[in-house]
Amino acid sequence: MEEGRIIRVSGPLVVADNMREAGMYEVVEVGDLRLVGEVTRIEGDRAYIQVYENTDGIKPGEKVYRTGSPLMAELGPGLIGKIFDGLQRPLEAIASLTGSPFVARGVKVPTLDRKKKWHFVPEKTLKPGDNVEGGYIIGRVQETSLIEHRVLIPPHVKGRLKELLPEGDYNVEDPIAYVETEDGNEIPITLMQKWPVRVPRPYKVKLEPNEPLLTGIRILDTIFPIAKGGTAAIPGPFGSGKTVTLQSLAKWSAAKIVIYVGCGERGNEMADELRSFPELKDPWTGKPLLERTILIANTSNMPVAARETSIYMGVTMAEYFRDQGYDVLVVADSTSRWAEALRELGGRLEEMPAEEGYPSYLPSRLAEYYERAGRVLTLGMPERFGSVTLASAVSPPGGDFTEPVTSNTLRFVRVFWPLDVALAQARHYPAINWLQGFSQYVDLVAEWWSKNVDPQWRQMRDLMMSILIREDELRQIVRLVGPESLGEKDRLILETARIIREGFLKQNAYDDIDAFSTPQKQVRMMKLIVNFYNRANELINKGISIKKIMDASGDIIAEIIRSKAVIRNEELNKYDELEKKLNGVLDTLSKSVGA
Ligand code: ADP
Repeated sequence: MEEGRIIRVSGPLVVADNMREAGMYEVVEVGDLRLVGEVTRIEGDRAYIQVYENTDGIKPGEKVYRTGSPLMAELGPGLIGKIFDGLQRPLEAIASLTGSPFVARGVKVPTLDRKKKWHFVPEKTLKPGDNVEGGYIIGRVQETSLIEHRVLIPPHVKGRLKELLPEGDYNVEDPIAYVETEDGNEIPITLMQKWPVRVPRPYKVKLEPNEPLLTGIRILDTIFPIAKGGTAAIPGPFGSGKTVTLQSLAKWSAAKIVIYVGCGERGNEMADELRSFPELKDPWTGKPLLERTILIANTSNMPVAARETSIYMGVTMAEYFRDQGYDVLVVADSTSRWAEALRELGGRLEEMPAEEGYPSYLPSRLAEYYERAGRVLTLGMPERFGSVTLASAVSPPGGDFTEPVTSNTLRFVRVFWPLDVALAQARHYPAINWLQGFSQYVDLVAEWWSKNVDPQWRQMRDLMMSILIREDELRQIVRLVGPESLGEKDRLILETARIIREGFLKQNAYDDIDAFSTPQKQVRMMKLIVNFYNRANELINKGISIKKIMDASGDIIAEIIRSKAVIRNEELNKYDELEKKLNGVLDTLSKSVGA
């Protein structure tokens, strides 16, 4: 292939000529150091190249070497539990996030260890002569104690299985099968396959997401649920709890695999985050969380171009595990930093900026990214379903949700968990504003809750939501005309809303018991609150004042509010005792007028 010649270097952007033959998004090696870059614009014989490594010292006149290939992810056993940069280069130690250089410039480090042997067990149902195609499971490797890696025929390969090698130990480049295609070619299949990161991996059918991705966080699961295969944004100003919320998702969510993309955050913060991972246990299995987690780190001190690719790298790995039949969650912190990388690169390309300096293609890039979420029927046999769920933090400057990244993200996600400074300042965590948030999955997941947890879930959720909305209206009335204007039932709304906020929505991510609520616990708590509301309503109908009700039940209500951090998920019968006590108090009140 012909070599190009550098004519200009501008930070992460290099312009080269003699590049007429180069393709858009082709990976090239730039300069004598052979830095990795990607062609992002072609004009005549000039190519504009975004370089993923620091370009200091690279000069006009040096050569550009083409590879003929787009940026690929390596996919195979050995990804789980590892940390990579945005180019999928393994970062040996968390320490490398804070020191520099992270990966020496120009050094090509393979993503997957070429020497490590994996124990491969071929699929018993397959034999030579069988027809196979992309997505067929031809064998298995136990990658970690939590993840069975299902070895797939790569998409677009189709033919007759010529040979399937026996059970044994293979490295990622050893052929474990051969497929003979219709035109007589023999294709070796290995444990590793490659896929271009900017292209979504194919599937058979995309389905409506209707199963919740449980997180153990009550406001997420019950008020604004996300479904497996759904999309969510968490916008919030600095310090409002984005990172803590994403970490809770990474730790507690019922995804089989979690891919954590740290995008443009500060190196030492990221290192702290990552350091906590090895000690954490999966609440669903008790196993170390790292056995189901892949980390991608592109901190603010790493080259900006690699930050742009990091989310594609993350979602490509996610699709690969989805294709194996798993539910995968990708958390990105933060897509604002990713958009800033786009803006910086666009600026260097001297593109005409759109809103606030962001390139005009910001919305389409966001759309393409969120489009890669979904629950699918995968290619190949045996028939299976998998999902990719995307949850991203957005950090709008000054908390202004109308700025381009937040407002465009809102167009493409179906769940919105907005963090609120006032709530964070009042130490109401998670500081999700329940009046601004939304989830378009409530209808879709209601059936799951009804079937698997409680038929009343939807009704109780809607009642709680309506009490919270009414509380807001009443507070405005009180502000205008004072509390005296409120009737007894309105006061009950205020009291109940307080219990919902303090006892249900507020949840301490650092409390052993409170951090994670099973769906059963969530429903049990809701029942208690709804029961109080309904019974108190009846008492008011009988002429008992809200003041009397609260005087009588204040202690037990305080106990109910505290119960989230006292009663464990496995001792829900303790809620029966609480309910009995509450009913006892209310019965006594009721009798006092009945007589
Ligand atoms: P951001 O990423 O938005 O800048 P952080 O996630 O770092 O904010 O949160 C800031 C602080 O708020 C945390 O250090 C923690 O003390 C507190 N916090 C946030 N969410 C929670 C939570 N769910 N439970 C307890 N504390 C929280």
